[in-house]
Amino acid sequence: MFLESHIDQPMQKGCIEVICGSMFSGKTEELIRRLKRAEFAKLKTAVFKPQLDVRYDNKHVVSHDSNTIVSTPVSSPSEILDLANDSEVVAIDEAQFFNTNLVDVCNKLANQGKRVIIAGLDMDFLGKPFGAMPKILAIAEHITKVHAICIDCGEIANHSFRLNKNKDLVQLGQKDEYKPLCRQCFVNNI
Ligand code: ZN
Repeated sequence: MFLESHIDQPMQKGCIEVICGSMFSGKTEELIRRLKRAEFAKLKTAVFKPQLDVRYDNKHVVSHDSNTIVSTPVSSPSEILDLANDSEVVAIDEAQFFNTNLVDVCNKLANQGKRVIIAGLDMDFLGKPFGAMPKILAIAEHITKVHAICIDCGEIANHSFRLNKNKDLVQLGQKDEYKPLCRQCFVNNI
């Protein structure tokens, strides 16, 4: 995982940060790390995730190494506006599964002076920009792209390659249904 060093400096109030990358790149771990730092600094935090992500636990943002933090599942971005009312730091995990209303919601939260931290897949299993993520990347002040390691060759991996033949965009997967691949190995696999 490659992190920009400035990200741990105190962020200005009212900004959007994005942590993006492929599966297995450590996005949720980095989101949790930033949230824990904010909590140590006595900032009021709120964490949200899409309702459909029920892979492990309905009430927690859970990363693959079981580092957990309490989160609230919501079915639409507008719910976040209501629920995040008195929070100074608002985190949203698995943001690629929300519709593009999330863009306006992020802007509104940041314009209210909140620090907004978004984590999500930047590309789907076909290598296409995923959901609202490209638009959120455009409006963000700070972007951190994290990487996994290519299973096939050991290079930096940018893609989440789906091992089964299911063509649905949203397929909640465990580790054994995807593998991280670099650009060249992704092209060779499809
Ligand atoms: Zn490779």
